[in-house]
Amino acid sequence: MENSRLYHFGLIGYPLEHSLSPQIHHAALRACCLEGEYHLFLIPPGPEAQVLLAEKVTALREGRLQGFNVTIPHKQNLLPLVDELTATASEVGAVNTVFLRDGKVVGENTDVPGFYADLQGLVHTDTPQRALVLGAGGSARAAVYALLRAGWDVQIAARRLEQAQALAGAFPRLPGRASALPFDLLEFPKNFALLVNTTPLGMYPKVDGCPWSEIAPLPEGCAVYDLIYNPPETRLMQNARISGHPVRNGLGMLIEQAALAFEIWTGKSAPRQAMRAAAEQ
Ligand code: NAP
Repeated sequence: MENSRLYHFGLIGYPLEHSLSPQIHHAALRACCLEGEYHLFLIPPGPEAQVLLAEKVTALREGRLQGFNVTIPHKQNLLPLVDELTATASEVGAVNTVFLRDGKVVGENTDVPGFYADLQGLVHTDTPQRALVLGAGGSARAAVYALLRAGWDVQIAARRLEQAQALAGAFPRLPGRASALPFDLLEFPKNFALLVNTTPLGMYPKVDGCPWSEIAPLPEGCAVYDLIYNPPETRLMQNARISGHPVRNGLGMLIEQAALAFEIWTGKSAPRQAMRAAAEQ
């Protein structure tokens, strides 16, 4: 692709007012000396949504958009609208990045490699152990898939047990084992190497929320990955850090999924440092 090109990217979702994606992608474009805009496309859930999503797919097909991201609540709604799914998007059953390849609209999922790559800064992901994942929604799906694919034993705790059970049964062909638990400290396993929070408990503005009891110790040596990045240190992370546990927030995952999308859309190596600096401003 030529540097003189004007790129149009964007994010489809609802709500979007706290999204960091425009500043992350604008920083990436600037750092690569590329001209372009990253737009926010608010599409509320409802009867009109599929038509509005299809319009964005058409815009991509006709060259008015060069790529877009998808977030809550449309990651699954995009599945029937694309021509092809990558293996990861198809297996996870969710699309967060859309692009045109050889005239075909392709749905990809960069949340999975984004989470997995960032997790490597916290634990040895290639040495499969046991993980406890709190929550069983959209982001849990990507995290659970990534861990099971790497052979981890994953226990999923959700307040609606049927949601945890559905996720635990979603990937039977992956090497790791998955099981479901109620969201209850008494039911949690006593030993695990990694705790992953995928619930919004502790997220801005309700920063006092915490998905783990303040008085219950975490297993010795257990690392904590919290997908939340606002605030940068959640109550869960603070408690765990003070007790000597390695912790990490979800900013690295956010940057990495954006970086992978940027590389697909532009063919350039993503300027990850500039992207992170823009998100931290
Ligand atoms: P989601 O699809 O709504 O899933 C949230 C999960 O948490 C569901 O299982 C939900 O259960 C559970 N939950 C919500 N409130 C709870 C509570 N009070 N007690 C126990 N469980 C509760 O949301 P998501 O897309 O997975 O996002 C979850 C979090 O991850 C958000 O904070 C989001 O910002 C963050 N995230 C970060 C990244 C990143 O790149 N770092 C990417 C995606 C998401 P119910 O279904 O019963 O409500």
